[in-house]
Amino acid sequence: MKIIKIIEKSIPLKSNVSNAVINFSNHTVSLVALVTDQVRNGRPVVGLSFNSIGRYAQSGIIDQRMAPRLLAAKPESLLQTNGQLSAEKVLACSLQNEKPGGHGDRAHAASGLELAVWDLNAKLNDEPASVLIARHYAHIAYSPKVSVYAAGGYYYPDEQTGRLEAELKAYQALGFDRFKMKVGGATLAQDMKRIERAIAITGAGNKVAVDANGRFDLAQALAFGKALQDHELMWYEEAGDPLDFELNSLLAKEYPSALATGENLFSRQDVKNLALFGGARAGLDIFQMDPGLSYGVTEYARMLNELESRGFDRKFCYPHSGQLLGLHVVAGLGLGGCEVYPGVFQPLGGFGDQILIEQGAVKISDAAGFGFEEKANLIAEFKTLLS
Ligand SMILES: [Mg+2]
Repeated sequence: MKIIKIIEKSIPLKSNVSNAVINFSNHTVSLVALVTDQVRNGRPVVGLSFNSIGRYAQSGIIDQRMAPRLLAAKPESLLQTNGQLSAEKVLACSLQNEKPGGHGDRAHAASGLELAVWDLNAKLNDEPASVLIARHYAHIAYSPKVSVYAAGGYYYPDEQTGRLEAELKAYQALGFDRFKMKVGGATLAQDMKRIERAIAITGAGNKVAVDANGRFDLAQALAFGKALQDHELMWYEEAGDPLDFELNSLLAKEYPSALATGENLFSRQDVKNLALFGGARAGLDIFQMDPGLSYGVTEYARMLNELESRGFDRKFCYPHSGQLLGLHVVAGLGLGGCEVYPGVFQPLGGFGDQILIEQGAVKISDAAGFGFEEKANLIAEFKTLLS
């Protein structure tokens, strides 16, 4: 088995929304196609993936550094014993001659390539990627049913009275019972009113999470936490800079309910530091590392080992970015649940067109691989890579 071509294409994200720190209207994502010499039904089997949402396409790193390394490697050096590509070996080859540390855009580029291997192998086996991931990592309690929550509540340029309520009601009509909204982009008083409006729709604070996207310094994070705490929210996400473990630990000493962070940590070592120095409370706080941004499933599994070796439970892992990649990793590794963007970040946000949300959960279909073929607007983009 051999990789014969690696195709990367940058596409725009369709979303003119903002959180407390950034606007997404100019964001891009790398689509990746791994074309092999394997043929099924007269056509080459192609592994598809992308590099998650929120951190831009990585065309240069893939095209100029990683794809040439993979194409130059001896084909057998990238295989596992069953003759299929090894995700671990593909990742290691992609990272040849790269220094350790400094896990930024390179981690997102590598994710695109590593995740395409899982899509490819699952298609060769004619099974969902989640089933393959569960078998590979010996997750024996596999279930295709995944708990999901709707992420939205952004700041819109043309914000109108009642828009937030209408958005949350629309999610409820779709079958969601838990939601996440952005905070930190308005005054504390304005944000508290928005949160109270959201709770009025959900009926309970523990069905609403808030995300400050790293906006606050320590004093602001503590003040916001104090204003929030009586609502006993589902969680309070990324209050401060994602690498400020001291801030997180000081906030954890004061804020009694769940904190969440991790979507901007891209390596096992970063997660080890979070576990050691971030003040995370086992059985309460949430970890949101995203395999689509952090070198793929291989490195994500190493992160889980770090957490579990320190007494944390994988059921408290809710990967960032609601899309098909994350959904299959959550089911495959038995994590707590998955974010999903029902309305924004097209064509990537959300799951297959026919997947139903029922009482805040979805069931992964039997489609092979990550099931991109069941999301019409996304597979249409992938087809442009192969035409
Ligand atoms: Mg977030």
